[in-house]
This record gives sequence, structure tokens and C-alpha cells, in this order.
Amino acid sequence: MMHSANNDTNYLPWHQAAWQQFSAYQKQHRLPHAMLVSGMPGLAKKTFAAQMATILLCENDIEQQQPCGQCFSCKLPAISEHPDYFEITPLEDSKAIKIEQIRELIESLHQTSHRIGNRIVIISPAEMMNNSAANALLKTLEEPGAGCYFLLISHAPAQLSATIRSRCQTLRISPDFSDETVTWVAQQSKQTMAIAAELLKQAEGAPQRAVELAEADTQQIRMQLIDELSGLLQNSSRLIAIAQRWQQGGLLKIIDEVIFILNQCVTQKVRPTSHADPALEKLAHLRANNLINYTQYIMQVKKELVINPNLNAQLLGETILLRWLDQVEVH
Ligand SMILES: [Zn+2]
Repeated sequence: MMHSANNDTNYLPWHQAAWQQFSAYQKQHRLPHAMLVSGMPGLAKKTFAAQMATILLCENDIEQQQPCGQCFSCKLPAISEHPDYFEITPLEDSKAIKIEQIRELIESLHQTSHRIGNRIVIISPAEMMNNSAANALLKTLEEPGAGCYFLLISHAPAQLSATIRSRCQTLRISPDFSDETVTWVAQQSKQTMAIAAELLKQAEGAPQRAVELAEADTQQIRMQLIDELSGLLQNSSRLIAIAQRWQQGGLLKIIDEVIFILNQCVTQKVRPTSHADPALEKLAHLRANNLINYTQYIMQVKKELVINPNLNAQLLGETILLRWLDQVEVH
């Protein structure tokens, strides 16, 4: 079977209730022409709206929520490339959605559909429409025309004018702490279930936010390690203190991060890219060969530690750091 690029039927677990609502509307043939997708930031509301658009633009008779994956629309690399898909967001130089954008949209909607009839308009974030833009949209929301669906996305629906709100059916996406969502966070952030659950709690049930928190944490850990590794080459008297911190931070986890850093460092030397972590500059003067040898050594240490978790982590940390001084120093 052909696999299409935008036919992403991996619906996110915390969207389930909203999908049930959508599916009920469809079964009863009363899908509203104006819907307000609301919920706090970090709930992937835009993904939900794009998946709805994929379903509504699919050109085959489809059952409920599975786009066919075969038609013109489903085979597009992204649904945003569909000629009957419109996305209104604030222009780059301003934070507001302006009346000109809405007027232009209405103008385009007056033309007939390019494909089978449905046309999808996403307005995000909807609360960024200024007053005149909102007023211009109102009449079209009242009489949207056949096959035209407006999906307004907002994490602050209270900031939308009451008249706009009253024209829309709300599809609310709620924070979620279910096992399925914790599993998703764990997979995305490459953390254990316990850590993922903790991150999700910190993010108040917003899974995307939880993944961002994990990334920020990891970034901070890596920056500190780069500081320690480069600092040690300047001042070896810090060796014992660093080994102690590594032991307290969980040596195995630290070793994983060190391996990641060294691999990045070597890649950056062999094939430099502009998006590399600027902190790596601090290790840029080290020779690639030395770094590669050291990486092989530390991977061996990791293996030993996995096999024998009772090894003295403080001592092992000191050994690793001594070897770092010895092996990567420019000779
Ligand atoms: Zn299709």
C-alpha cells in the first residue's frame, strides 16, 4: 500500500476526546462550519486542526477518521500545499492578524474550489485577529458557503470577541496525564516512564511542553559537561570535585551525555554545520583522532559499568577524567 506523507493517522492520545466529538458530528452529518479548537499551549492544537483538514479534504469516501492515503489530497507532502487549504497567521512583521488578510481570504473563498469542494481555513492564533479583522470575518462565519470549514485555534478564547465565539462550536483539547500520554512523552523525549510522568506533571499536562522541558534539561546538563571537560584541561585540580559531581548526578547517565558530546564534537570537525551547539567551540581545539580514541575508551567503561553497576562510581569518574587529561591533551 502506498504511504502518503500527510496522511498521519497516528492521532495523539490526548486528542482522543476531541476526535470523538468530531466523529460524532460527522456521523450525524452536522459537522459545524466554524469550530474553535481551544486548549492551553503545548497540546498540539495545530496538529489536530491539520489532521482534521486532511480528513475533510480527502477525496475518497472515507470511514470516520482515516484518510484514504491514496487520493491527490492525501498524497501531498503536507496538507498546507493543498489549493483549497488556507492558513491565516500573523504576518511576520506584526503580531496581529489584519483585516487585509481576512479580505484577501474572503476574496479567494469566492472562487470555486480547486478540487472536490471542501475548503479549509485555519486561523491561528485566532485571538490575534484585531477588531476590524474579526468584524470582517463575522459575516463569512455566518454564511460560510457549502463545503467551507473554519478552524479557529486559540489558547486564549476569552480574548476572542463574543460574537466570533458564539458562531463557533468549541472543540476543547484538555491537559492529560494518562498512561498513553506519558508513554508518548517518554518516547519523544527518550526518557523513562517515571521521568516522563514527572515532566508531564511539571508541564501541567501539556505533552509538547513536557518534551520541551526535557530538552532544556538535557541542554543544560550538556553545557555543564562541556564546561567541566574544557575547564579540566585548564585546571586539573578540579578533577576530584568533578568526579564527585558526576557520581552524584548518576555516572551512567553522565557517560551517555559525554559520548553524545564527543560524537558531536568529532562530527563538527569532520563535517561542520552551522546549527551545531556553540558551546562545542570550547572543545574545538582538540584533535579528532584523540577524541575518537577517547570515545572508544569511554564506551568500553560504559559497558563495564552496565555489567557491574556496583563499581565505585567516584573512583571510576576520577579514572575517566585522568584519562581525559592524558589522552585528549594536544601533544
Ligand atoms: Zn484521500
